[in-house]
Amino acid sequence: MSESRVRVRFAPSPTGLMHLGNVRTALMNYLFAQQKNGIFVLRIEDTDPQRNFDPQAKHIIEDLKWLGLDYTEGPKKNGPFAPYFQSKRMDIYKEKLNTLVEKNLIYRCFCTTEELDKKRQRQISLRTAPRYDRTCLKLSQEEIQKKLDQKIPFIWRMNLDHTKSIHLKDIAHGDIKFDLKNFSDFPLTRQNGSYTFMFANFVDDMVMEISHVLRGEDHLTNTAGQAALFQAFSKELPTFWHMPILCNIEGKKLSKRDFGFSLKDLKAAGYLPETICNYLAIIGGSFKKEVMSLEELTQSMNFDHAHSKGQIKYDVEKLKWLNHKWIAQYDPATLTQRCKPYLIEAFPQVKKIDDQKLTDLIQAIKTDLTTLADVSNVLKFYFETPILENLDLQAVLDNSTPQVAQIVAQHINTINNPDVFLMNIKSAAKQQELKFKSLFSFLRFALMGATKGPGIKDLIEMLGYEEAEKRLLNLIELNK
Ligand code: GLU
Repeated sequence: MSESRVRVRFAPSPTGLMHLGNVRTALMNYLFAQQKNGIFVLRIEDTDPQRNFDPQAKHIIEDLKWLGLDYTEGPKKNGPFAPYFQSKRMDIYKEKLNTLVEKNLIYRCFCTTEELDKKRQRQISLRTAPRYDRTCLKLSQEEIQKKLDQKIPFIWRMNLDHTKSIHLKDIAHGDIKFDLKNFSDFPLTRQNGSYTFMFANFVDDMVMEISHVLRGEDHLTNTAGQAALFQAFSKELPTFWHMPILCNIEGKKLSKRDFGFSLKDLKAAGYLPETICNYLAIIGGSFKKEVMSLEELTQSMNFDHAHSKGQIKYDVEKLKWLNHKWIAQYDPATLTQRCKPYLIEAFPQVKKIDDQKLTDLIQAIKTDLTTLADVSNVLKFYFETPILENLDLQAVLDNSTPQVAQIVAQHINTINNPDVFLMNIKSAAKQQELKFKSLFSFLRFALMGATKGPGIKDLIEMLGYEEAEKRLLNLIELNK
């Protein structure tokens, strides 16, 4: 390694939309780099053109930006190890493959997929571990040449030294030993000439001088072969951290069927990027303070004691709780911008309302929001006059309603001064021995057609005096 600076990378394959597992991996790499004053690399692992869902990695780049996980080197930013798309790094893989050919550490395999399938089935039925049986390692030079002359397609396989063991350090799992005799001579190339994940991923980690590999536990067994490759090039191994996989509340691997699996769904449902990062950082750990920004998380994460917890359970209820907290403390103007698309979708007239007015409205009701999407429901009363005739008045109002209605009617001319208006009607209600609860239910119901919401003074101010008066007169009328 040319310098001791921490270098980590997020290396997604653009085969589908980002899910929470990817986001957590990206986040941990980001926080690790931030804390250690290191470099956070984004590398797109697109060597399999058939599974290339997002060829320019547009979605990945946008998602990282939205989450606030800014990378130091990568697509659109470049850096000393550009390009950062594996599909553009074929020459580098070719050169490294040639080194292995020269060192005689890899061999050509001409077995067809059908043959390999049959062998695997046989091994499974004999209850032996399905491993490549090394048919092609035994081929003589003449046999190889003959097959090459016949243009029989082949792949390159690693010739693992079965007498050796690999020892490595993993932040979550501690010291790990892999006996290579238990591993298959894995492919480095495909028949179409492209490079496998195992090989390209290793080459880039080596060439890009990655010091710490933070990735999902599902890659743990790949590490044995990749460590053998590092040794083949006489390179020191990076430090690994294989992080536990996210599970649903029942303890099963989080899947498409679980709400919130895909980042796109969480975004659409109105979860803030701050909430998602906050949640994915604290999940599975214990922190004194739970609501934390990326900066605070960077300070608080303890990567030296990130032992494996076996399972990390994703709990939507906790996510909701955090989102509610984040909405309540969010910068008002930014919250307005985040809420606006939901409001415009439900009430197109919102486009014409100025941002300050919208901010006032949202601030008055923000504690009622669990997600941003709730905003259209919670503010519906403002944009659409409640149709009181259709609501069950009897269920809400009591038999003192006609008297209450009369009091409100008597003082409605003071509505332009809500404090005076409220004082007047309260003292009149007291004189007539009416319950304040009846009075306030009446007012709230008239103003918003619901039984819960902002304070009455706030409601009058939100709606404006004229509209508030109109709505109150409506209910008075109904009680005549
Ligand atoms: N492209 C791999 C994946 O998306 C990267 C694994 C790694 O981080 O090494 O799973």
